[in-house]
Amino acid sequence: VLARHGHRPHRLLQILHDVQDLYGWLPPEALTAVAHGLHLPRVAVESTAGFYSFLYTRPVGQYRVLFSDNITDCLLGAPALMQRLCERLWLEPGKVSPDGLASVATTSCTGLCDQGPALLVNGRAMPRVTPERIDAMAGLIQQRVPVADWPEDWFAIEDRIHRRDVLLRHVWRPGEVLQAARARGAQGVLNEVARSGLRGRGGAGFPTGFKWRACAEAPGAQRVIVCNADEGEPGTFKDRVLLSTAFDLVVDGMCVAALAVGARLGFLYLRAEYRYLLPRLQARLAERRAQGLLGAGCLGPGLDFDIDIHLGAGAYICGEESALIESLEGKPGKPRIRPPFPVTQGYLGRPTTVNNVETLATAALVALHGGDWLRAIGTESSSGTKVLSVSGDVARPGIYECPFGTPLAEVLHAAGAADVQAVTTAGAAGPCLSAGELHRRIAFEDVATGGSIMVFDRSRDLFELAHNVAHFFAHESCGFCTPCRVGTAVNARLLDKLAAHRGSPYDLEEMDRMHRLMQGASHCGLGNTATLALQDLARKFRPAFERRLASTTYEPAFDLDAALSEARRMTRRDDALAHLGSNRSAGLGQ
Ligand code: SF4
Repeated sequence: VLARHGHRPHRLLQILHDVQDLYGWLPPEALTAVAHGLHLPRVAVESTAGFYSFLYTRPVGQYRVLFSDNITDCLLGAPALMQRLCERLWLEPGKVSPDGLASVATTSCTGLCDQGPALLVNGRAMPRVTPERIDAMAGLIQQRVPVADWPEDWFAIEDRIHRRDVLLRHVWRPGEVLQAARARGAQGVLNEVARSGLRGRGGAGFPTGFKWRACAEAPGAQRVIVCNADEGEPGTFKDRVLLSTAFDLVVDGMCVAALAVGARLGFLYLRAEYRYLLPRLQARLAERRAQGLLGAGCLGPGLDFDIDIHLGAGAYICGEESALIESLEGKPGKPRIRPPFPVTQGYLGRPTTVNNVETLATAALVALHGGDWLRAIGTESSSGTKVLSVSGDVARPGIYECPFGTPLAEVLHAAGAADVQAVTTAGAAGPCLSAGELHRRIAFEDVATGGSIMVFDRSRDLFELAHNVAHFFAHESCGFCTPCRVGTAVNARLLDKLAAHRGSPYDLEEMDRMHRLMQGASHCGLGNTATLALQDLARKFRPAFERRLASTTYEPAFDLDAALSEARRMTRRDDALAHLGSNRSAGLGQ
């Protein structure tokens, strides 16, 4: 394995993937051997191995089943399906069966919200899971049938594109984009991208032309282009569809960016949940090399550019560009302190441009048609189109590409949403709109979105959404800075308390305090946005929270009487005096 990766320490994450493929997990002896072979301290290898959800430093089941616990999967019955599988296999969620055969647990959004409930089995994505499928799966696991021999149609993933605009409708000839970019030259491409007003489609909306020029002008001999295909925002799956249906346009976009900034090396950082796409993507890169559309001379005489696909390992924070770069270097994906910014010192200290899949695909079309072409679509501040992933309570979940400026109501109508109560427009990390706000428009100046649109009708208890979001962030916080590490955990505990109907107004105030603290003091965007949806939900849908208040004054989070239930069970004593309140009234507590 080490030889295959050239004994390069920054390949550590990919090496650990390969070692895990060999053993099913990462035994301590293997970590020691990797550290020795790469001349790295063992603690460095261990900290990378321990950081990522999909790397296992303890034995896991021969069959590892991970149910997506995104809210849309939960609404479609994922918890009951998981319980059913656990019962069929006689095991507890989160535990490995005593014979080592299987383990069942949850994972964050798998990017299949339009065809949930979904799960991963040994890393393979399975959409549209039903109770019947669960029973059949349990049988196959008990008979030890390899996952590769399971019915192929169980793993069929649909693209479900319901509305196409320039990006998803575009037809272009292979090589056309590169030809146009080469004719414009580096400066010409930079000028057109700046003129187009193209802004990053990941959600932040940073001007792409500005980023590319900063990278092009940064001192350094070697520059790097990174395509961020680590879409982990709950409810987002549009990059999956773009990679499946318009991969050439994405690669063209990376080539155009490379020409503009002067890069010779590119990475596509693919989220581990999309591993099933890897063979197809690698095969297409190989074809492009053979066609002269990638590799030696693809950007012009003597101008080489090639792309390496780097597989993530289950860490939401790696969507943050500096955390992604750390991950590319084989380290835990913790956001860097900035400045310096990646455009001047990114991958291995080289000027690095990180762009989202959709941004790069759009940039390819800008190179082809020019900046004014994109400017003519959308609004003054948001040029072009946005690809939206729509899921939840809609008749037609899937992909909708619409020009910026399109009212949210129009998208929801097309998706068949009815009786809407709330819509999250930026996954777990952004606002939650009420039914009265659906006239608002998809645009950076109004509803800025990375593309995740989750719809909840009036039958839904929105407290469940808040509870899910709080646990998502508590799980995904990288732990680097205290406000986020502690704040997300406190929020999850507060929501647990409310879920148990033991909350008080004090807890809602405490959520506000956590929001203010995390907003001002968190190190990166995750901590700064982790409370936005919670705040919106608690403000706009107050009754969903107030229904769970046990009193109007303070309620302790710790229920001593409930905590003693295990002792009562073990001593087989459950009379009135074995309960805390009874002891007090009987004077036994004095
Ligand atoms: Fe990590 Fe959260 Fe701090 Fe970001 S804000 S660095 S995710 S702990």
